[in-house]
Amino acid sequence: MLQSDLGEGTKRAAILRDDARHVWRPYTATADQARMDALVFASSDGVYLVDEDGRRFLDGNSSWWTMALGHGHPRLRRALVNQAERMMHVPMAGATHGVAADLARALVAVCPGDLSRVFFSDDGSTAVETAIKMAIQYHQQTGQPGRTTFVPLPGSFHGDTTGAMSLGGVDAFHDTFRRITFSTLRAREPEGQDWSGTLEHMEQLFSQHGSRVAALVVEPGVQGAVGMRFVPDTVLREVVAMARRAGSLVIADEVFSGYGRTGCMWAVERARVEPDILCTAKGFSGGVMPFAATVASDRVFSGFDGDKTRALMHGHTFCGNPLGAAVALEVLRIFEDEDVLAQLEPKSRILSRGMARATSLAPVKDVRVLGMVAACEVGDPCGYGGTLGWEVYREALARGLYARPLGNTVYLTPPLNAPDGDLSRMVDVLVESIAAVATGRPNNAGGA
Ligand SMILES: *Cc1c(COP(=O)(O)O)cnc(C)c1O
Repeated sequence: MLQSDLGEGTKRAAILRDDARHVWRPYTATADQARMDALVFASSDGVYLVDEDGRRFLDGNSSWWTMALGHGHPRLRRALVNQAERMMHVPMAGATHGVAADLARALVAVCPGDLSRVFFSDDGSTAVETAIKMAIQYHQQTGQPGRTTFVPLPGSFHGDTTGAMSLGGVDAFHDTFRRITFSTLRAREPEGQDWSGTLEHMEQLFSQHGSRVAALVVEPGVQGAVGMRFVPDTVLREVVAMARRAGSLVIADEVFSGYGRTGCMWAVERARVEPDILCTAKGFSGGVMPFAATVASDRVFSGFDGDKTRALMHGHTFCGNPLGAAVALEVLRIFEDEDVLAQLEPKSRILSRGMARATSLAPVKDVRVLGMVAACEVGDPCGYGGTLGWEVYREALARGLYARPLGNTVYLTPPLNAPDGDLSRMVDVLVESIAAVATGRPNNAGGA
């Protein structure tokens, strides 16, 4: 696109000038930040993102996997405003409030197994940090202080704070900081869909080091950041059984996979495994507020029984923030009132039918759909080094779909309640865009 088409002197240009001078964006090269064709969002509504020029884009990834119920759900708007009028923030240490208590009860009611204690925090990373420290202190206080290491799945992503990063295994995010993160017992990568080598290796790790393991940490159902990799339920069951035999806790990071993303409320339910600690964020507050929870079992919580020498020494300023809590509570009510989970199967079939058409396209591999996650690879190398994924992204933008890729992994993670017509349109545009790149007939006039 020509500079002049981008409207020098418009509001958009002014925003980009200030941004280029003063904003430090996440995961963004300075060279890219200087580009004048960046997306500048102005508003959002339902399944649509609207930019400063009034262009509308279908939100193919629910704005970083968060907007489970779409943008601006009227009940979430109202819940937020009502709460803002009553009480915006209060401390949670040595005090509590009704919205947090209501939400904790409602969340526990939909949690698997004997998860019964809710620790609130701000985002996925803090939910995971909390889980890490719960596990360590739990073992310290129950006579096994030597349990200080963790077993993550290969290719894991649990957030970008230092503890969460230590559990991470996606080089693009984590390599730079390896020298300052704590070490974990990391099993070898699966080969394609074949996890047998990984399982063997994990069995070895547990049998050699089991008595040192504080917790197994899993992204059940789907590992998002590594490239929408599906984790077979049988694999999950096996690794959880290994952890149990070794006396280790099990932490399920459902920050992405929870709240219906894989087709049921929690991905652990698909595999019928019951974690000791579960982390939730993203869809938890419908993407409206930065808000998260770490839910622990009775057993884990009982490890903290006693006086203040045994209290969990962890907290965040905004623990249980009433605005976040009010919205998260309303999300759960909407899930129930609008029967959100029951509608996922037919919606998932729309994704499957649409994606099936990509199977025959030349560079496409591994077309896969699980619940409301649809993905495929558009060529080698897979992973973040890929550039074809970005070509597909630009094609899709030019056709009105926002579907930021993970390198050569292109995917859709639409709002769970996206109307069927919009959902079909998203897959159609994605497949058309892949086809355009595959056949070298691009239709993209520029775009970000
Ligand atoms: C996004 C994500 C996180 C980190 O959440 P933030 O809100 O970005 O801190 C942790 N775990 C998983 C599985 C995620 O997808």
